[in-house]
Amino acid sequence: MRATVMFGAGDVRVENVPDARLVEPTDALVRVTRAAICGSDLWPYNQMQQDEAGRRMGHEFIGIAENVGADVRTVKVGDVVVAPFLYSDGTCVFCREGLHTSCLHGGRYGADDVDGGQGEAVRVPEADGTLVVLPVGEDDALMPSLLTLSDVMATGHHAALAARVAPGKTAAVVGDGAVGLCGVIAAKRLGAERIFLLGRHPDRIALAKEFGATEIVSERGDEAVERVRELTNGFGAHSVLECVGHDEATETALGLVRAGGAVGRVGLPQHQAIPTTLKTFFDNVTISGGPAPARAYIEELLPDVLEGRINPGRVFDRVTDLDGVPDGYRAMNERAAIKVMVTF
Ligand SMILES: [Zn+2]
Repeated sequence: MRATVMFGAGDVRVENVPDARLVEPTDALVRVTRAAICGSDLWPYNQMQQDEAGRRMGHEFIGIAENVGADVRTVKVGDVVVAPFLYSDGTCVFCREGLHTSCLHGGRYGADDVDGGQGEAVRVPEADGTLVVLPVGEDDALMPSLLTLSDVMATGHHAALAARVAPGKTAAVVGDGAVGLCGVIAAKRLGAERIFLLGRHPDRIALAKEFGATEIVSERGDEAVERVRELTNGFGAHSVLECVGHDEATETALGLVRAGGAVGRVGLPQHQAIPTTLKTFFDNVTISGGPAPARAYIEELLPDVLEGRINPGRVFDRVTDLDGVPDGYRAMNERAAIKVMVTF
């Protein structure tokens, strides 16, 4: 079969790889019908050391179960399924607490003999705990929005929960990528009264407004902090969704937050330390977040997608086939595309 393999920074290729197949009785073999390129795929795209063994890429996909292992109960051949960006058993102590990202038997795609999602098929371990069967056909018009449940919409929702968005609150979203835009959707969905988006790209701003952003802050760094304070009687935002991960974004997020407020971090941190200050201590600021337990949130968000209350699939502004994936990486890296969907 064919799949996306990264060999080093800027070096992504579509290669022939061994066919995906069942290994464990708890596996499902999923033929991929839709996949996506993630902002987090751009970190290795910019930094990976050259490695001729390569790394299989992709962790956001929807597909059709082509075969299931003998112990699989909830997925049957022919089901249309969405996969969260990590697999998990659904039964361990952490899964039962809704924290599937800490699953004792979980893991990630593209590692340890598990296929990546940007390819023709994937062996999905722990299929019962991982996959969610979708009540739609494989070419349903909702596919782009359903695909965001595997990562970006779930991650935006996680940021909003970690930032304690609630009715009447003011939220600020740092980051105008797909996760930040989904964070706007999530903040609105949870009842935020005002939603600031920090961004300056006209196409992203237009989408953010459509999703519910009430004010756009196009300044950066200290000036952005000042602007948000001006807009909030000098106090800052109750809830700050940090959707980037680098130090400047983290510092901005911590600067924007109001005393007693919360910062929800979902951008993959590029440094080990939170650039925290005495101010966040004396202001009783909560700093929370991490990888989203997408498996838990898929079930929560799915009705809103199916009934059209949220439309996160709008973040896909480019569609390609598998051969176009290397170009898709280039486009996202150059910020010429917000997010790329791959169809098979
Ligand atoms: Zn588990």
